[in-house]
Amino acid sequence: ATHSGDVSQEVATHCPYCALQCGMTLRRTADRVEVLPRQFPTNRGGLCQKGWTAAELLDHPDRLTTPLVRDRPGAELRPASWPEALDRVVSGIRRIQAEHGRDAVAVFGGGGLTNEKAYTLGKFARVALGTRNIDYNGRFCMSSAAAAGIRAFGIDRGLPFPLADLGTADTLLLVGANVAETMPPLVRYLIEQRERGGTLIVIDPRATATARQATLHLQPTPGTDLAVANALLHIALAEGWVDKHYVDARTSGFEQVRRVAASYWPARVEQLSGVPVADLEAAARALGTAGRTIILTARGAEQHAKGVDTVTAFINLALALGLPGRPGSGYGCLTGQGNGQGGREHGQKADQLPGYRRIDDPAARAHVAGVWGVRPEELPGPGISAYELLTALGTPDGPKALLVFGSNPVVSAPRANRVESRLRDLDLLVVADFVRSETAAIADVVLPTAQWAEEDGTMTNLEGRVLRRRALRPPPPGVRTDLAVLAELADRLGTGSDVEPAGGGSTARVGSAGTGTGPRFPADPRVVFEELRRASAGGVADYAGISWERIDAEDGVFWPCPTEDGAGTARLFADGFPTPDGRARFLPVEHRAAAEEVCPDYPVYLTTGRVLAQYQSGAQTRRIAPLHRAAPGAFLELHPDLAARLGVLDGDEVLVTSRRGEMRAPARLTGTIRPDTVFAPFHWAGQARINSVTSDALDPVSRMPEFKVCAVRVEKA
Ligand code: SF4
Repeated sequence: ATHSGDVSQEVATHCPYCALQCGMTLRRTADRVEVLPRQFPTNRGGLCQKGWTAAELLDHPDRLTTPLVRDRPGAELRPASWPEALDRVVSGIRRIQAEHGRDAVAVFGGGGLTNEKAYTLGKFARVALGTRNIDYNGRFCMSSAAAAGIRAFGIDRGLPFPLADLGTADTLLLVGANVAETMPPLVRYLIEQRERGGTLIVIDPRATATARQATLHLQPTPGTDLAVANALLHIALAEGWVDKHYVDARTSGFEQVRRVAASYWPARVEQLSGVPVADLEAAARALGTAGRTIILTARGAEQHAKGVDTVTAFINLALALGLPGRPGSGYGCLTGQGNGQGGREHGQKADQLPGYRRIDDPAARAHVAGVWGVRPEELPGPGISAYELLTALGTPDGPKALLVFGSNPVVSAPRANRVESRLRDLDLLVVADFVRSETAAIADVVLPTAQWAEEDGTMTNLEGRVLRRRALRPPPPGVRTDLAVLAELADRLGTGSDVEPAGGGSTARVGSAGTGTGPRFPADPRVVFEELRRASAGGVADYAGISWERIDAEDGVFWPCPTEDGAGTARLFADGFPTPDGRARFLPVEHRAAAEEVCPDYPVYLTTGRVLAQYQSGAQTRRIAPLHRAAPGAFLELHPDLAARLGVLDGDEVLVTSRRGEMRAPARLTGTIRPDTVFAPFHWAGQARINSVTSDALDPVSRMPEFKVCAVRVEKA
């Protein structure tokens, strides 16, 4: 950074949006903040249009700079002072907890929050509020891949190898990953891979911008990826491409998986998925005979009521081919949200404590309680998952208050109309955000918070590389950081005072930068990070050896990194897997129908996803003029054959109806989608909100909703 007085003129930081966390430089000029691309190992100087325009929100007229409160149901939100708004929050929490118990107040976090915020939010819920009810929007993002990774490998790190490995793969398989629109700078690795003569295979029901670059595109019926994976394994077995030495030496459970795969003969799977036998065979050959092979899944495979099993099927394939841990090969998941990886490691998940520890593990509880200065028995037990939490709100036994940080569930939750009505029924809804998102608009109290360029912190990208996010300028007057808000709330709740370490079997010290005492909820992100290091020490996601100085010096540090003098771990599984016997686990998985299949009343499959110029619920990107011009509204993508049957022309307004709700948008006719399937992006609200329609069926393990397939009726509006 360069400085003029105490104000930075230029800082090296990262994009506020997706998990690629592209390196960028922010520069202050006389009247604005400029974004400049920056060389970083992942984006290599590239940025997409979202990154280029990210600074436009800093001084946007929609920016909130004063707290808002609603005096009674039905009244408009009105400006308030910080003391009044915080008093309202604290008195509401006290009243509700006194009447209904501690679990009556819930917390909802986000995968875009920095590591320090995710950590503090989990601690705030368990210690300051004493509630078990905390979860976050990452549950809607990649929880199925996380659960499958833990099941198979004993660890969940999106990519267990550096991103640059993609460029050297002889065969690269992308399953339900439209990186050309979601992470455009990543495309240069795909180009590099093909320029070296590599084969790119894409599995997607749509011929997306990514699929159109592929050597081979398999276009299955939504909800049949698992069967396709089992068919690929079936062929690999039949052709002798399974790495028997690897399977014997490094894995367990193969025999059962082999038996299951035996029944997924290609002709059967062609019938099930619509993928021709010849394409299944070509894909299996490319995967089974290549030197370096990488298999990646993303939301297309994961956001299903059988998402964990679908990912497991692709992991089984990767293990059978001997890929995980082999240099230049492997299985990985492309995490979506900016801190999708770090956001799931530090304790904002219902079932988890920092360091990716299980909240029901007595040793984990003792360690974390020691760091937090409480007794282990004071820590609440596991809560319920995001969608279950959101739909329990306001019910007789459910929470009566919700605090939302970094999320917009009114747009992003499945069956969003039901979620919205639950949120409206709450006694107290508090939203911390920097714009009036759709969730903030229905809140009782809105707390204006800082943006990414106004505070320091760390993020962990899709490779498990911990990065520094650096402040260019302080927050504008009237705005506070999330950490400052949580510190102030804890203080007012009487739990923020200086603490000494409690017992509970930990020698870790609490408080500011290892002095042994200090505020229990520090607002300084660097102090929080030091505490996070201690809390994560010895856990799966071990940050103990990572300091901000090391991150600066090394262009990020990969976890696990247990000691300051040892290197971070860029590549996992070279010598073994972090399972009790050191072996990766095969698990037999069978195809099953989607929770909702097409029928005469709802004869078309709906799938959802993102477009290049928008991000997540759109609360940020819809407000940025160039992005709005590029993608001004929702649409429904449908095949011309289906449109002809429905009497719909390109541009006609169509009504999409499911058993749960409806959505309206203009029709966009394209031959790139299957004739039995329609697609809508999920970035818009109101009547263009596709999540009014999506399915709320949950995966039994990850509790991931089935965003990617449900049955709908489409008609001209
Ligand atoms: Fe990079 Fe993602 Fe930001 Fe685009 S949105 S610039 S791909 S981090």
